[in-house]
Parts: sequence; C-alpha cells; structure tokens
Amino acid sequence: MNPVANLYITIAISSICIGLFVYFNSSKKNLAKLFLLFTIAGFYWSLTGFLLRDASIFEQALLMQKIGGLWPFCIAIFAHFAFFYIKIDKFFKNKILFYTVLYAPAVFFSFFEITTNEITIVVKSSLGFWTSSTPQGSILYIASTVWSWSISTIAIFFVLLHLIKEKPSKKKAQTKFVFIGLCTPFFLSTFSESIFPLFSMPLFKMTVPGFGLGLIFIGYAIYKYELFEINPTIAADEIISTMQDYLILTNEEKKIQTVNPSILKTTKYSKDDLIGEKIDILFSKDDFVNGKNIDFFALDDKITHGKFHLKTKTNEKIPVVFSKTVFDDQNQNVKGLIVLGRDVREEAKAEQQIQEYIKKLEDGELAMVSMLEDLRISQKKIKDLNKNLEYKVKQRTYEVEKLLRQKDEFIHMLGHDLKNPLTPLTTLLPLLRKNLDDDKNAELLDVVIKNVHYIKNLVSNTLDLARLNSPNTSFDMQDTVLIEEINKSIDSNILNFKDNDIIIVNNVKENFVVKADKLRLNEVFNNLLSNAVKYSPSGGKIIIDAEEKEDEIIVSVKDNGVGISSEQQKQIFDEFYKADGSRHSFDSTGLGLPICKRIIEKHGGRIWVKSPGTGKGSTFFFILKKSK
Ligand code: ADP
Repeated sequence: MNPVANLYITIAISSICIGLFVYFNSSKKNLAKLFLLFTIAGFYWSLTGFLLRDASIFEQALLMQKIGGLWPFCIAIFAHFAFFYIKIDKFFKNKILFYTVLYAPAVFFSFFEITTNEITIVVKSSLGFWTSSTPQGSILYIASTVWSWSISTIAIFFVLLHLIKEKPSKKKAQTKFVFIGLCTPFFLSTFSESIFPLFSMPLFKMTVPGFGLGLIFIGYAIYKYELFEINPTIAADEIISTMQDYLILTNEEKKIQTVNPSILKTTKYSKDDLIGEKIDILFSKDDFVNGKNIDFFALDDKITHGKFHLKTKTNEKIPVVFSKTVFDDQNQNVKGLIVLGRDVREEAKAEQQIQEYIKKLEDGELAMVSMLEDLRISQKKIKDLNKNLEYKVKQRTYEVEKLLRQKDEFIHMLGHDLKNPLTPLTTLLPLLRKNLDDDKNAELLDVVIKNVHYIKNLVSNTLDLARLNSPNTSFDMQDTVLIEEINKSIDSNILNFKDNDIIIVNNVKENFVVKADKLRLNEVFNNLLSNAVKYSPSGGKIIIDAEEKEDEIIVSVKDNGVGISSEQQKQIFDEFYKADGSRHSFDSTGLGLPICKRIIEKHGGRIWVKSPGTGKGSTFFFILKKSK
C-alpha cells in the first residue's frame, strides 16, 4: 500500500468517526444529521480515493473511479452544510427549489462522470499510483470545475460574512473553526489542482485530504465548543457570564474566588481588585452590624437571605437582595460560600414612591378630615342662618300680608265712604243741569258733573280691585263658550266702536270652551276693548283671536293704535299707572289693566302685552284654562 493511499484510508476512517461521534453525542438535531452526512460524504470520497490509489491494475482503478463518480454530491453536501450552518436556507421560501438548484448539478455531473470519460480519466501518477486526471479540452470538465468552485466560494463567502457579523461569543469561535474547516478543502483543492499545475508543480490531488482535514477542524469545534449541543457545564458558564444577577463564590476564609461580570460592571471593580479579597469589601459595614451585630456572611446556615447594600469602588451603596448558600466537600467540611444577589434599586425606588404616596394620601386624608369638619361647621351655620331667615321671612310675610290686608280694608272703606255721598250727586246734578237756564253756569256744572263721574269711576274701580285682592272673593267658574262672551262685550261697546269709526273683527273659533267666571271675563274684554278704542285713532281696527295650546287657550286683542313703548309695557299692569298721553284724561283711571290682571290670575292664567313700539299698535294676550 502506498503512503497516499494510506492517507486516504485514514481520512476516510476519521471522517466517519467524527461524524458518528457528533451524531451520537448530540441531541440528533438536524445540523448533527447534516454533519453526519457531510462526514459520510468525506468517508465515501476518501474511501473511493483510497481504492483508486490502491488499485493494482487499470481495470480495477477504472472501476474505483466510476464508484467514486458521485463526488459532485460531496461538493453539494459541503455547500448544503455551510448554508444550513448559517441558516441561509431560511431566507428561501421555496426550499424545494433551493435544494434542487443545489443538488441538480451534482446529479448532472455524477451522471456524466459515471457514464463518460469527459470529466475525469484514470491515469498513473508520477508517484506511481493510480489517480484521476483531466481529459484535454473537455467542456464538461470545465463546467464541473466552475460549478464546484463557484458553489464552494459562495458557501465560504456567506460563512465568512456570518463570522464577521457575529458578536464575540462562543458561537463566533465555533463559526471560526467551521470557516477554517470549510476553507481547508477549498484552498487545498484550488492550489493542488488548479494553481500549482499552472506552474508545472505537480502535487498530488489535495481535495479529498483537504476535505478530511476540514472535518477535523469542524470536529475540533465540536469538541471544544459543543457545536451541536450545549451541555450543562457550558450552559452554566454561559448563564453566569451573561446573567444580570450578582454571583460571588468565596473559599472557607470568605475570600472571593469568583465573581461574575455583572458584579464587576456595577461595582466598577476589576476582577483582580476582588479575587482574594474578603467578601466584606463588597458590603456596607452598616448592614453587617444592623444593630445586633449579625454577620450575614457567617459560614453557617443561620441566615440564608436578606437585604443589604452592595458597596461599589466609589463607595456608592446599591440596595441588593441576597441569598447565601454554604457549600461543603464530601467530608462535610465547609468549603466556602455562594452568594447570589439581585439589584433592587428599581424596587427600592418604587417602594419609596409608594411610601411618599401613602404619606401624601395620609396628609390628604388629614386635610380632608379638617375640610369635612369645616364643612360640617359651615353647614350648621347655614342651617342656623336658614332657620333665622325662614323666621324673618315668615315674620316679614306676615307683616306684608297684614299691611296688604289693611290697605285693602282701607281702600274698601274709603271706597264705600266716597261712593255713598257720590250717589245723590250723580243723580241730582243732571237734574240741576236740566233746569239751569244760565249758559255760563250750565258750562261750569258740566265740568262738575264730569269730575263727579270720574270720581265715581275711580271709586268703583278701586273698590273692584280691592275686592279682587281680597282672599274672600270667589269666582263662579263655569264652562264658557268664549265667542259668546266676546260677542256680548262687542255688543255692549258697539256704540263706542261706531262713534270712533272702529272696525271690530272676531276670529275666535266657535268650539273654544273655557273655564271662567262669565261676568269677570266680560269685565276683562270690556276693559281691553275700551282701551283699544281709547288708544286707537278713529277708523282703527281691532282684531280678536284665540289659539289652542295643549290644555289652554291664548286669547289676543290686537289694535293698530298708539302702541306702547317697551318701558311702558313693564308698568301698565301696575295700579294707577297711566302713560303720559292719558295722564289727564277723565276716561282714564289707571286701574283697568290691574283689574284685568287680577281677574286673569284668579282664573289661573297670565296676561301680557306686546307692542312693536309707539305708534305701531299693541296686542294684549291672556291665557285661560280649557274646559275639559
Ligand atoms: P286707563 O284707565 O288709563 O286706560 P288702564 O290700566 O286700562 O288704565 O291702562 C293703563 C295705561 O296703559 C293707559 O294709561 C295707557 O297708557 C296704556 N294702555 C292701555 N291699553 C292700551 C292700548 N290698547 N294701547 C295703548 N296704550 C294702552
């Protein structure tokens, strides 16, 4: 057996061993399976290489070369492994297409390798063993070489990119070895089969040994970095170096043996500052004493957890919750402490905020209590005030009512006292006037008679109003056909309308029936109609109308007379109010509208006036209840 053949068989055996080792020591993940396939490919290629080089006669060599004709699959598997390692296949939605592109050329070239002599031929090497060579000017050979070279370059290029991008970690170290493992066959193949022959430097073909060597690198990565499986020790290392919590290991003298990066980051100590120092260096003295002189880090199990302050290099105190475990060897001898801690700055801050909040709430509560007390006192004061006010109002009301009563009684009495002497005057004076021949005296007597009539009117209106104001006056409420009462009033004023050339229009519907005291209602219409005539120019027009609204009837008496200014509108329902124009008129007492108001109010209604202004006419409205 020649040494090159020996090398091939060694590579074949080691390839398959590495593959099987990884496969059985990993959790048989896909990558481990693929790696096994990779090593099987290496095994196959090396084995057929060995058999070719070990052949004694040409026919045997040719057969071996044909058996090894599936080598393009080894190239495809090589690339497949690389792509899978960097997870590039995940970017391809259509995996079938991806694998077809990857493996189809392998099928193609294998087919021609086995069935023709267009890719490789068997020759005897200068070193005396059978080897493969290239047929001169074969396109298939060039195509297969270009394909092998390109696909390997692409695979290696992507792994390199991945390696550059990866942050320093165990995985990066692994990738480094995988990269070297992939580069080895590539470069050895390129140098031994393409570059060196150019310079007429015959070198035996190094592709397959390179393949095997590459697998050793990847195998090393497996051994060193657990490429395919993280074992508990590695996991623990990884966790400790990346965990946020603090970890301190001491020996039996409580001297620090190990700390994790997290504690170094927080305390700003370097590892060298701490290793070999007593654990006390990291803790605030106040916490150790805690009033009772308790040593939290005593080498016993009395205290297993607590809250302390971690002391940084710059003497900053960081609140930390710790738990402590004392660990022994097999003979129960104390070997040291494991202290685990967690930064509770955020929690402490939150707690402080809660405390502040509670305090604020308590203060608020106090303020609230005193506010409530103030409120209670104010309430009491208001209540007392109210009582007082109520009493005062009652007293005043009583007084006002008394005064009103007295006023009414006075007017009533005065009315009677005035009315009585007036009666003979009103009957006798016209007689006297009749028998008087002297014109001058007759004129004077006319003035007297006018004044007497005025006084009589005034007295009777005053008495009427006084009666209306008296609570003893009752109304005879009946179902009243509105239009009938209006017609009665029109009839009784007909002369007045004629004398003043007034047109009267009655638009009230016949079916309007109201609850009213007929006599009083007549009084209202008489007053309103006589006012309308009185304050309209000759030839004026009076329109009486009524409209229904829910259970009420709104009656209106409209004239196109002198109108009423908005200032006057506010006062015309006051007793004895007369607008300037009628102030000195003997026909005007200033009591007509107040009487109407009292009558309508006693019917449970309301009376008001609207006028666009002086000279623009006025409309009087009043409401009566509809009869049910
Ligand atoms: P009077 O006996 O003076 O008419 P009223 O109480 O009936 O007393 O009226 C009070 C005042 O209201 C009147 O002096 C008059 O100025 C005004 N007034 C009443 N009705 C009308 C009206 N239809 N048009 C204009 N002014 C009116």
